[in-house]
Amino acid sequence: MLDQTGGIRQVVKLSQGQPTSDGAGVKLNRVIGNRALSELDPFLLLDEFRSEDGADYIGGFPDHPHRGFETVTYMLAGRMRHGDNKGHSGLLRPGSVQWMTAGRGIVHSEMPEQEDGLMWGFQLWVNLPAADKMTAPRYQEIEPEQVPVAELPDGVKVHVIAGKVGNVVGPVNGIATAPTYLDVELPARASASFELPPGQSAFAYPFEGDAAIGDRIVPRGTLAVLGDGNRVVLSAKAAPARVLLVAGQPLNESVVRYGPFVMNTQEQIRQAIADYQAGRF
Ligand code: MN
Repeated sequence: MLDQTGGIRQVVKLSQGQPTSDGAGVKLNRVIGNRALSELDPFLLLDEFRSEDGADYIGGFPDHPHRGFETVTYMLAGRMRHGDNKGHSGLLRPGSVQWMTAGRGIVHSEMPEQEDGLMWGFQLWVNLPAADKMTAPRYQEIEPEQVPVAELPDGVKVHVIAGKVGNVVGPVNGIATAPTYLDVELPARASASFELPPGQSAFAYPFEGDAAIGDRIVPRGTLAVLGDGNRVVLSAKAAPARVLLVAGQPLNESVVRYGPFVMNTQEQIRQAIADYQAGRF
């Protein structure tokens, strides 16, 4: 069928963030994994955490397990210390990214390394194909200096975490769902077009200012699910805007979720719980 829009992806659904808390009482805005949008295959969850009040985040995320998917943390402000039961640890600071493939299982903690001041960032959960759910855990830790910036016309700057913009390639590699993960800074009245692989699921999330996504204005804190096509056009209006633009290959496999375990069958969930309780992670 001929696409009359020339393959431009448009907004097909909006998900207003749902305020919630997780971990030891960390306040969050949940934009995927809520009532409006339970998932967007392969994306299982997207949280934005943003507060200047230490009471909203000081509890952090003490030791907890994951199995069967990937967690992607992108920090905008503040410092977060992570550590796991295999002795691995590191510090996330503004601009850094941790792409963690939990695979068959890890037990880790994610704790703020500050008592007050702005803590701001995102956590995205990306599903793993059935064949990879029991793979060995893997970390890709990207320092802020390792995230390349693509400079586009109109003064648009794009932090390329995964995927590519023109000749600029993001540092995250070897991910089954072939993701694109971009942080797009749009000056007032600027506009930019991004190619995204047709057939992939995609969303745009304005996190500073309101943005036009295709022909629709989307307010800050609301996630826009994109229909199919080969590219998307993002624009700022009178004020600057900043937008997360993410895409990935859908898996089209059954999803059975139980808290931090995401598998394909109930039996695999029972096994995950048994393995965790027996200390086999
Ligand atoms: Mn975690």
